[in-house]
Amino acid sequence: MTAPSDTFKTRKARLRSAFLAQLPQRISEARLRLAALPDTPVEPEALTGLALVFHTIKGSSASFGLAAISDLARQAEDTVRHALTAAEPMSTQVRATLERTLDQLAVLQARPAEETNAADRFGFEPLPAAAEPAVVHTGHAAQRRAKRIYLCDDDGDLGQQLCTQLACFGYQVTALSSLAELRAAVAAEAPAAVIMDVMFPEGEHAGPAALTDLHETLGYVVPSLFISSRDDFQARLQAVKAGGSAYCTKPVKTTEMVEFLDALTNRESPTPFHVLVVDDEPNIARLHALVLEEAGMTTTIATDPAAVIDLLKGFNADLVLMDMYMPQCSGPELARVLRQMPGHVSLPIIYVSSETDRERQFRALEVGADGFLTKPVEPARLVNEVSLRAERMRTLHALMVRDGLTGLFNHNTIMQFLEIGVANARRDGRPLCFAMIDVDRFKRVNDAYGHPAGDQVLMALSRGLRLRLRECDVVGRYGGEEFAVVLPGVEVEDGKVILDQLRTSFAEVLFYAGDATFRCTFSAGIAAFPQIASADALIEAADVALYSAKGNGRNRVETASANDRSRSQDPIAAEHANGQ
Ligand code: GH3
Ligand code: MG
Ligand code: MG
Repeated sequence: MTAPSDTFKTRKARLRSAFLAQLPQRISEARLRLAALPDTPVEPEALTGLALVFHTIKGSSASFGLAAISDLARQAEDTVRHALTAAEPMSTQVRATLERTLDQLAVLQARPAEETNAADRFGFEPLPAAAEPAVVHTGHAAQRRAKRIYLCDDDGDLGQQLCTQLACFGYQVTALSSLAELRAAVAAEAPAAVIMDVMFPEGEHAGPAALTDLHETLGYVVPSLFISSRDDFQARLQAVKAGGSAYCTKPVKTTEMVEFLDALTNRESPTPFHVLVVDDEPNIARLHALVLEEAGMTTTIATDPAAVIDLLKGFNADLVLMDMYMPQCSGPELARVLRQMPGHVSLPIIYVSSETDRERQFRALEVGADGFLTKPVEPARLVNEVSLRAERMRTLHALMVRDGLTGLFNHNTIMQFLEIGVANARRDGRPLCFAMIDVDRFKRVNDAYGHPAGDQVLMALSRGLRLRLRECDVVGRYGGEEFAVVLPGVEVEDGKVILDQLRTSFAEVLFYAGDATFRCTFSAGIAAFPQIASADALIEAADVALYSAKGNGRNRVETASANDRSRSQDPIAAEHANGQ
């Protein structure tokens, strides 16, 4: 890991020195290969090997802004390729030229400082437009939203009640029952957002006025939501003038406030793109990774193409940045291998190569890659191309794998995640919990309050699940009013505690349908790995546990035990349950 004090520039400079330090080794390799070339006959493989050494030096040195070195390597590569195409033995003259080029390369390698000007041209300076590196969140959702949110309403009871409701969705909101209290709180700690009443004893538009003052005090506009029993134009206008971004009439629907807060927090923490960088040249791989990380992405590096498939199992890559020429396997070959795997059919692939031959570029793209970048790649260009394609893929992917009403993963996707989760848990020797959740008496909700009210409940439950679980947990809509949750690394007892917390929170949420209010509960069944050893058996066991939760009175969480399963009539499931 690099020290935080390392700037982009110094890290980049260090990679460049590392590349220069191992350049003599490459030059010796080229010398040896050249010396080993027989006078006759022509050996295409030996020539290709030599060309590849020059090709690599050409691309890498260009990427590090070493233009003169790159130029020499290009000339040498061209010379060797020419001999290859002509299928003629290499003349003494050509050999002498190549040897001279190698001597010149050795001289330049020792004096890289002379290339400083060229280096600047190739972006060896901090990225001007780089976004702040995005933080990778790993903790519970509630922890990462530790920022202050104030709710100011002179009806103290109502304020408290709304805060309790919001806490069910993972938002810790401080209730303040007067403008004086608000001012004191703001002086103590500036808020990330404010939820504000319109009328106060001070005046019928005292809320918006107080917010305007607050903006002046802070020197910036705080995102704000107004809540009011008034629905007239004046009240709404004053709220807008005070910079209010949303307005809800009382009785306030918790889900509306949550939508406002969600929009705020989502904007703050989009999941960074994860890029797999494949290049047999470690310094180039690191250089490209560095540029992408500087722009807020996360990266994994593979210097061996053979490792790529296993690496991709471990995380969800948004894109693969791939070198064209690697020793055991070319970029297009690796792309073809990936395209033949169902999970990677649509994974975006961008080649990065010093290949400038249009024909060869075109053939490389034919196997289903999405773009071609020529080394040296300008940092801004690299970031641009990668984010563009990764973003497009995420949008498409979201449409494919998300459920339309709740935005959660759909049935198929959650099942895939469970399979992956179980495989990872088995490999790492870690536990995993799988839970099925079903809303209690949901048909009655629809019957009594209407389908749209029912939809509100499903949306609230899905939001609650998403917000309160960790980033690594997977939540999906299993079907209708059934949800499924995968909790990697969680023991069954802890899984039960987590689900029970979710259950009690959800039971407190108040729903509105016209003038009526109601609450809902859910039941859940949990099954855990390794006690239950396969994805299919986990689903079945969680379903059985859910069924007994319903039978035992609903609004409860039941755990499937391996013993329960062994009593099952299904001998295969029983086998799995016993860990066989
Ligand atoms: P139990 O406690 O036993 O689970 O009772 P229940 O009424 O929840 O179970 P049941 O399976 O009898 O009813 C589920 C209902 O959920 C029936 C179906 O109309 C409703 N439902 C399924 N999907 C949706 C949806 O997307 N929106 C709404 N509003 N209702 C849905
Ligand atoms: Mg290479
Ligand atoms: Mg139900």
